[in-house]
Amino acid sequence: MTQQTSVQAAAASGVAPLPPIVEISSVSKSYGNVEVLHGVDFRVMPGEVVAIIGPSGSGKSTLLRCINHLEQIDSGTVVVADELIGYRRSGGDLFELPERLTAKQRRATGMVFQSFNLFPHLTVLENITLAPLKHRVSSKAEVAAEAHRLLDKVGLGEKARSYPGELSGGQQQRVAIARALAMKPQVMLFDEPTSALDPELVGEVLEVLKQLAETGMTMIVVTHEIAFAGQICDRIVFMEDGRIVEDGPAAQVLAGPREERTRTFLSRVL
Ligand code: ADP
Ligand code: MG
Repeated sequence: MTQQTSVQAAAASGVAPLPPIVEISSVSKSYGNVEVLHGVDFRVMPGEVVAIIGPSGSGKSTLLRCINHLEQIDSGTVVVADELIGYRRSGGDLFELPERLTAKQRRATGMVFQSFNLFPHLTVLENITLAPLKHRVSSKAEVAAEAHRLLDKVGLGEKARSYPGELSGGQQQRVAIARALAMKPQVMLFDEPTSALDPELVGEVLEVLKQLAETGMTMIVVTHEIAFAGQICDRIVFMEDGRIVEDGPAAQVLAGPREERTRTFLSRVL
């Protein structure tokens, strides 16, 4: 992004920067006896837009899913907005939180999946208002008004009464983004939000992501859209085999990656 991030602005003004909004320390995760994340360290500052790129199977989705405790980590810690996700600390030990409390923590993050995951039997409006009504985010009237505002924002003001099956993939994904935003998350997580779309529908979804980034939303985007990552992301993180291989300013990672493995990957996808 060309505009200064909040972090850069704070640094330039001499004010101490804010603490990270996402801080992952030494996170390891196995499925069965296969370890797929090997002690990952990763932090995101408020307002930052970070792309995660890397080959299929490198652990990108798993890392996103660990951030909101859709997957349970085996060791390390995940802190989002000052909350230790999934655990409470007592003395030097960590104790698992009950699901009811992790569900509450999960609301700090909004997740958008490759496959949209809308409820097919609910209208667009009902898809967006379901969770905010259930969790009483605000009054019924305000939840509905906010849903309409969000639909306008993603360019679908006319589709409130439609069903997902009546929409294109690009429109469904924009509804999914509005639905995640309706819970007023502090961080948005996107897992390959355009990978399931026909090529002509990719642009409309990327445009919504770009607009969202411009509002100052903190975003972590797993994507294969490298050019897009270069345009809207502050940082690019390259993952391979369950490790972060490179993490730097977007322009620098794309123009002059430090690691040979990043260079090889980029030469294949660009
Ligand atoms: P990426 O998103 O980068 O393609 P993933 O995080 O989906 O990678 O997967 C990382 C590794 O973990 C892969 O080897 C994958 O096969 C494995 N994996 C992912 N999810 C599961 C699961 N639910 N059970 C077992 N193995 C899994
Ligand atoms: Mg994935």
